[in-house]
Amino acid sequence: MKYITVIGLEIHAELLTETKVFCGCKNSFGGTVNGSCCPVCTGMPGTLPVLNRKAVELAIAAGLSFGSGITQRTLWDRKNYFYPDLAKAYQISQLYAPVCVGGGLDVGGRFIRLTRIHLEEDAGKLVHARGETVIDYNRAGVPLIEIVSEPDMRSSDEAAAFVEKVRRTLVYAGVSDGKMEQGSLRVDANISIMPENASEYGTRTEIKNLNSFKFIKKAIDFEVERQAEVLNAGERVIQETRRYDEISGETFSMRSKEDAHDYRYFPDPDILPLIIKDGDIERISATLTEPPSKRYARYTEYGLSGVDAEVILENKIIADFFDECVKSGANPQTAANCVKGELMRCFNAAENKDALPISVSDFVKALALAEKSEISGNGLKTAIKYMFQEGKPIDDVVKEHNLTVNEDLSVITAAIAKVLAENPKAVEQYKNGDTKVLSFFMGQCARALKGTALAQTVQAELKKALDKN
Ligand code: ADP
Ligand code: MG
Ligand code: ZN
Repeated sequence: MKYITVIGLEIHAELLTETKVFCGCKNSFGGTVNGSCCPVCTGMPGTLPVLNRKAVELAIAAGLSFGSGITQRTLWDRKNYFYPDLAKAYQISQLYAPVCVGGGLDVGGRFIRLTRIHLEEDAGKLVHARGETVIDYNRAGVPLIEIVSEPDMRSSDEAAAFVEKVRRTLVYAGVSDGKMEQGSLRVDANISIMPENASEYGTRTEIKNLNSFKFIKKAIDFEVERQAEVLNAGERVIQETRRYDEISGETFSMRSKEDAHDYRYFPDPDILPLIIKDGDIERISATLTEPPSKRYARYTEYGLSGVDAEVILENKIIADFFDECVKSGANPQTAANCVKGELMRCFNAAENKDALPISVSDFVKALALAEKSEISGNGLKTAIKYMFQEGKPIDDVVKEHNLTVNEDLSVITAAIAKVLAENPKAVEQYKNGDTKVLSFFMGQCARALKGTALAQTVQAELKKALDKN
């Protein structure tokens, strides 16, 4: 039997606020265990929550980025359940009047609808080690938005692409840092399958807490297979919550699916309904920068390929840097080549991924030097590498590493002669008509000449030497 896969996602994103959502404790990742908590976020009786304005503004910014409607009278509800990481035994969340409703985004030409976005507080964390469990409440009370999609996705690839688009949109809007490896973005995947000609969705299971693209895909693929086996055996899929085991690559039943009434949701009497005015929405809207989808369109208008545009957009720091280069007058394609080439190579190898240690003006100046043939193409790469590693301005780097083009034909021909003498086999290949070895020779010569000669000069001399040989 052929089945259609149906996926709906619930994405939790931690918000980039200075402090937690209902108290003044710092909102930061890591730190001393229980070093960032107070009576409010540890649920001491008699304490009262005070809503963090910034958290609401970021939730609204998220909604505006996805084209959602903003609820102008939004409410707070208690979701009651017991777990050691939840000291109050209830989570303040929003069931009845979430801050954002509707909206969606385009994924590969298909529009995936959002149901809602609501604001809530995160729970603490249980850290199991050496037979002990430590409860760390640093994360308790960190503001979260939960973005709920309609069951509009039809494959694990589409689900992963959706998460990446959501992540990117949140990062560009300054709503979340989107760091999945630190748990800032966590995904629950709801999955069902139905026979191709069915008119109704099948029974779904929900896989909790997926924290990487790889695991999102693997968990969904496994679950789709598992459900198909259940149906093919003439049995029924049970609606339940499952856990993905990263080591075995399988999903396991955790508990039968809970419904809203199991949580005995009720309006939180400690927090008043929040009125959001038109003026608030306009003010927040004005702070939003150009979203990644618009940037993509702009980059392709510059003439960049879709692939290049994607590579640059993947990281906002890189994309912002590229935009600044273009603003400073760099040719977009030339800038793009160096940004996605040497600059990203350095960035990916660097420890600090929060900023680039290179100034836009130095970078643009380096591009201009190459344009004027004052440094060679290879010299440009070398210059970027050293500017990045040493944090020095372009003029110093060019001077200190002798990158100025200084073509001395006798030096060039000597270098070429040496490379050819050292590689008789490749020379033989060239003579037999294999011109592919030319790029090998060019690389060898570039290394020997350390970027002091232009590629076109070296190539011309190289051809002469080879044809003479
Ligand atoms: P809850 O998880 O609180 O019960 P909902 O019932 O609204 O909330 O559904 C949560 C998620 O499950 C949504 O993302 C929705 O798109 C998805 N979903 C609902 N029905 C199905 C289905 N039959 N197959 C796959 N996903 C589904
Ligand atoms: Mg759910
Ligand atoms: Zn606190």
